Amino acid sequence: MMQKAKKLETKKIKNHIDDLIEKLKSGKINKSEITYLLKAKGNLQKELFEQARQIRQKYYGNKVFVRGVIEISNYCRKNCDYCAMRYLNKKIKRYGLTSEEIFSVAKQIRKLGIQTLFIQAGENLNMDKIVEGVLLKIKKELKINNIILCLGNRAKEQYKRFKQSGANAYILKIETSDSKLFQKIRHEPLRQRVQCLKWLKELKFKVGTGNITGLPGQTIDNIVDDILLAKKLNTDFVSTAPFIPNENTPFENKPYGNLNLTLNTMAILRIMLKDILIPTVSALEKIKKGGQLLGFNAGANVITVNFTPLSYREKYSIYSKKRFVVSLNHALDTIKLAGLNSDIRKRWK
Ligand code: SAH
Ligand code: SF4
Repeated sequence: MMQKAKKLETKKIKNHIDDLIEKLKSGKINKSEITYLLKAKGNLQKELFEQARQIRQKYYGNKVFVRGVIEISNYCRKNCDYCAMRYLNKKIKRYGLTSEEIFSVAKQIRKLGIQTLFIQAGENLNMDKIVEGVLLKIKKELKINNIILCLGNRAKEQYKRFKQSGANAYILKIETSDSKLFQKIRHEPLRQRVQCLKWLKELKFKVGTGNITGLPGQTIDNIVDDILLAKKLNTDFVSTAPFIPNENTPFENKPYGNLNLTLNTMAILRIMLKDILIPTVSALEKIKKGGQLLGFNAGANVITVNFTPLSYREKYSIYSKKRFVVSLNHALDTIKLAGLNSDIRKRWK
C-alpha cells in the first residue's frame, strides 16, 4: 500500500515536471513557474538539464563554437560598481594594444583554425579608429568571417563604421533588466543600452546580450525578468555569468553569484530560446573547478579561449587577479569531457 502511494507520488512529480518543461518550450509559462524552475534541485534540475541538452542536440548536434578573444584595452569611461576596469580603479595599469599587436594575435587565432574572433575592451572611444583599421586588414588578409565586438555603448554612426570595417556581431549585455538596479550599479540609464541594442539590430549585426547572476541587490524576480527580456530582445546569443566580487571595486566584499542559479538560468534560456548560442563562461570555472563542463551539461554550446598577450595579462592584471583564464587546452578538454566536438578547423598554413 505504502509502495503504491510512493509510486503515485513520483508519477505526480514527473507529470508536474513534464508540464512545466512543455510550458517553457512553448513560451507559455508564467513568472512563478519560471521562479520554480530557477530554484530547481535534484530530479527537477536533472530533467531541466537533460531537456536543455536534447534541444541543443536537435539544433546543433554535438557542435560547440570556439571563440578566440583578445582584450584590446582596459581603459574605460564608465564606472560600473562590479567591474575592476571602472575608471575610478586606480590600482590597475591601463593599456591599449596597437593595431599590429591585435593583428598578430588575430593571425595566431586564425592559424589555430578558430572560426570566430572576439574583440573586447572597456568602454573607450580611443580604440575605435584602431579597431576599424585592423578589422579591414583582418578581413582582407586573414579571411575571418565571424568577428564579434564587445566594446560597450556607442553612437549609431560608430556601430555603422564597425560594420563597414568587417565586424558582423556585437555583444552588449543588459546585465540586469531592473532599470533602478541598472542605474544604481552602472550609473547610466538602461534605456540607452537597450537603444544601442536596437541600433545594432537595425544595422544587421548578429547581437548578443545577457545578465549577471547574483549581482548585489538583485532578486530572483529580477532574474525571471532578465530571462523574459532576453526572449523579448530576440538576440542571436545570450549569456549569463555568476557575479565575481572583484578587488578594488565597491562590491569586492559581496558574495559570489550562485552556481546552480546560473546553470538553471542557462538551461531555461536554452529550452525557451532553442537555437540561440549560449556560452559556458570562464566565471563558472572560477567559482567551481569543472564549472564550464557543468555549463555544457546545462545546454551551453560556445566557449571562449583567451588570447590576450601574456605580457599584458601579467603586467597589468587586466581587470582582476581573481578571474580564470581559459586556455585552448582547457577548452578542448572541457568540450571532450562533455561529449561534444569543437568547430575548430584544420590548422591554417
Ligand atoms: N565594456 C564593455 C565590455 C567589457 S566588460 C561592456 O561593459 O559592455 C564584459 C562583461 O564582463 C560585461 O558585460 C559584464 O557582464 C562582465 N563582468 C564585468 N565584471 C563582472 C563581474 N564582477 N562578475 C561577472 N561578470 C562581470
Ligand atoms: Fe567599463 Fe564594461 Fe567594466 Fe562597465 S562593465 S566598467 S563599461 S568595462
